[in-house]
Amino acid sequence: MAQQQPIFILPEGAFRTTGRDAQRNNIAAAKAVAETVRTTLGPRGMDKMLVDTLGDITITNDGATIVEEMNVEHPAAKMVVEVAKTQDSEVGDGTTTAVVLTGEFLSNSEKLLDQRIHPSIIARGYRMAAKKAHDILPKMSTSVTLKDEKLLREIAETAMTGKGAEAAKEGLSELCVGAIMQIAEVNNGVVTADLDNVQVEKKAGGSTSDSELIRGIIVDKERVHSRMPKRVANAKIALLDSAIEISKTETDAKISITSPDQIQAFVAQEEKMLKDMVDVVVKSGANVLFCQKGVDDLAQHFLAKAGILAIRRAKKSDMEKLAKATGASIVTSVKELGKADLGFAKTVEEVKIAGDEMIFVRDCKNPKAVSLLIRGGTEHVIDEVERAVKDALGGVAAALEVGKIVAGGGAPEIELAKQLREYADTVGGREQLAIDAFADAVEIIPRTLAESAGMDAIDTLVKLRAEHEKGNKNTGVDVNNGRTADMWKLGIIEPLKIKTQAVQSAAEAAEMILRIDDVIATKSSGGGMGGMPPGGMGGGMGGMGDM
Ligand code: ADP
Ligand code: MG
Repeated sequence: MAQQQPIFILPEGAFRTTGRDAQRNNIAAAKAVAETVRTTLGPRGMDKMLVDTLGDITITNDGATIVEEMNVEHPAAKMVVEVAKTQDSEVGDGTTTAVVLTGEFLSNSEKLLDQRIHPSIIARGYRMAAKKAHDILPKMSTSVTLKDEKLLREIAETAMTGKGAEAAKEGLSELCVGAIMQIAEVNNGVVTADLDNVQVEKKAGGSTSDSELIRGIIVDKERVHSRMPKRVANAKIALLDSAIEISKTETDAKISITSPDQIQAFVAQEEKMLKDMVDVVVKSGANVLFCQKGVDDLAQHFLAKAGILAIRRAKKSDMEKLAKATGASIVTSVKELGKADLGFAKTVEEVKIAGDEMIFVRDCKNPKAVSLLIRGGTEHVIDEVERAVKDALGGVAAALEVGKIVAGGGAPEIELAKQLREYADTVGGREQLAIDAFADAVEIIPRTLAESAGMDAIDTLVKLRAEHEKGNKNTGVDVNNGRTADMWKLGIIEPLKIKTQAVQSAAEAAEMILRIDDVIATKSSGGGMGGMPPGGMGGGMGGMGDM
């Protein structure tokens, strides 16, 4: 009998782990990511300092930023990073929640795997639970509209609690809500709030409470000519996306000049052409001009003489926002500029902030684009305030777009867990165990909030469950007083979408990771496979036998 030859199907240096080993390894990696961000959750959460390869420092409490900056390489860990990114792009807040949930779903699935429950049964149970959660969560929500300014501010404040913006959160939440209410559009009762229309500008210096909402746009440019006015009241604004210059001829043209008179005439001709262009601007009635391209020196002089404040080489995105804010239309050729194309603002002003000139276009009439100017002591402070403000803007926008809000502080998670357990009882079988595990996992949010506030986590959970049994749906963790309390009454309010999106993405990622029983990594990416055992090749095959 011929001896059996080993068969190699993978290139040299490929890693392979299978069965239990693959599963455990993936779960461990995903849990490690979740464990890292868990301590940042909630108002008493701590911050992380991240140092990149260039030595640049980021100090943050924001889940999405942390997992992104961590630069994880393990494939399963990367899936958890994706969860944070999805949450960030869909809602803009709740990223830590989503990551922590993913970790806990996986952690609890391990206990079931230990009881020899097949991963596909766990995955099925999780899917049933996630689907049910999608019914349960909206039922515990309340409606919110653009008129509920107080509620909207509470949402913004809840989003900023525990972040770098904490000290100035009242003022900042007023600015955030003001910004969203200004740009929100209502169609058939449906609100859309496109965050692209809220421009967030940062300038170090001053204090966070000097931050400002401009009902208009800030353009990071200066006047083209020092003799132009610094401030124009009742501004009539022209937006031009072509140059005020004499264009060079496309083809090689040769002009023969034979006498000094001809030079004179030639220069005069050019001067006249520029003067004509400026005259069109003057005739339109504009006293402010934003030009997306260049403005000739001579034209600058003419514009300054006419008392027009002009800016050249404005960014295209700024031009679009200016159009939205001032009601001006962007004109492609100077010749076409007319009175009807102009936009309006109460003032346009060049202001020096922290050593840099910026143009403020203020108090536009019902602008559909606005700017938030964020100030703060240092670069690092401002960056973290910006992240907090973006969470708040995202939260308020998500609340309005879906039109539903829930209490925060772990209350909805306790309520969800309770109702999922009731549902599990009606399901029976092994899936019931998975649904119960899912329900327990959701309680990681209040548990972590309690732990970070130095409260006894088990006592707190027992108390919360008892309150919810009594029908107190809004009881959550009052971290400031170390007790349980009605979150709604404390003004701790969040958009429903944070919860639905976090549960959904976390469940999907957990399910996907659970279903993997084989990791094949070609290319000896070495460190890339992180904690993978080097002898993984084929070694874990036996693990599948009992599944
Ligand atoms: P995420 O990235 O998930 O938004 P956060 O660090 O912002 O993480 O924490 C959000 C959690 O903190 C939510 O569950 C929210 O309800 C809770 N929370 C916010 N403010 C308070 C508060 N004052 N008391 C108790 N819980 C709060
Ligand atoms: Mg948050």
